[in-house]
Amino acid sequence: MSYFKTARPYIVAGPCSAETREQVLNMAATLAGMNVHLMRAGVWKPRTRPGSFEGNGAVALAWLQEAKELYKLPVTTEVAEPEHVELALKHGIDVLWIGARTVVNPFQVQRLADALKGVDIPVMVKNPVNPDVNLWQGAIERFEQAGITSVAAIHRGFSGYTAAAGYRNQPNWPIPIELKRRKPQLTMICDPSHITGSRDRIGEVAQKAMDMHFDGLMIETHHQPDEAWSDAAQQVTPAQLQQILSGLVVRQEHTHDMSGQEQLEYLRQLMDSTDAEIIDLVARRMELSGQMGAVKKLCNMTAYQPARWREIVETRSDRGSIHGLTREFIVELYEKIHHESIRIQLSVLEEAAKELKK
Ligand code: PEP
Ligand code: MN
Repeated sequence: MSYFKTARPYIVAGPCSAETREQVLNMAATLAGMNVHLMRAGVWKPRTRPGSFEGNGAVALAWLQEAKELYKLPVTTEVAEPEHVELALKHGIDVLWIGARTVVNPFQVQRLADALKGVDIPVMVKNPVNPDVNLWQGAIERFEQAGITSVAAIHRGFSGYTAAAGYRNQPNWPIPIELKRRKPQLTMICDPSHITGSRDRIGEVAQKAMDMHFDGLMIETHHQPDEAWSDAAQQVTPAQLQQILSGLVVRQEHTHDMSGQEQLEYLRQLMDSTDAEIIDLVARRMELSGQMGAVKKLCNMTAYQPARWREIVETRSDRGSIHGLTREFIVELYEKIHHESIRIQLSVLEEAAKELKK
């Protein structure tokens, strides 16, 4: 049985980075008294730009080892080099995780898998930063082929040029769902901290993950989140973590044993979250319309452009037909969307005209 299948939800919590020995020990003491199964803390931090805190390195492994022994709470850290693997194993780290920036590189993933040959330690594989389900699946399989029997996937969202719909990393839910379809036995953990990038929305995304039947959650937790040395905006206090966990509604999988009423409830939950996503996307589209209105104003162009509208109808109908949606339905839907879009652009142009008259 997989190491991770002992509880649902399986909870991983702890700071983004192991900052000081005192911080690590205090956090372990707090989490050991809560419904947390594994404590996380980054020791080597993959930072986007140089100059940010890059982790304390090997010295912090000793803090994790001490915390684990004192509080009997298993610990995990990110490894990105075979040398990290070797040091983590030497310090009795219980579970390893592979970061999103490492998973994009099959050579590096293979080096890590090779470093683990003959050592059956549980491994959690984050999704690659780019939305590629094959790359994610491939990384998982490299560890499975190296003989790792407990592998979990962590969904931490996908980067994009803009923070669309207010996420730090786009959740792109169909990707983890497709991974689970391909590998039904795989443990799926959601990391709402890196998806949202903001502590206020962690509860909402954690609930959504439960509704999508994820097995667990990884939530960054810090005693003084605003003072954190990395990812300050997205870390929660242990009290906030407790609140998020106690607020979760955890449902059983949609099975034929459920009564009709329960099945309906479950499907309604999925529909509610899908609708919330549709509205977020429509709002994002309208935002883009506003921006296009501003560009059209600058270039002195009309809001309505018949050729563009014809192209929208054709491309969207083709897209809809992949899913069996009729052309009539797509045209009707887009008439509404396009109409609102034009209304927004016209209001930008009217504003500009008023400015000129002044
Ligand atoms: C982290 O968990 O702190 C981290 C660096 O994650 P990711 O690889 O998802 O960016
Ligand atoms: Mn982090």
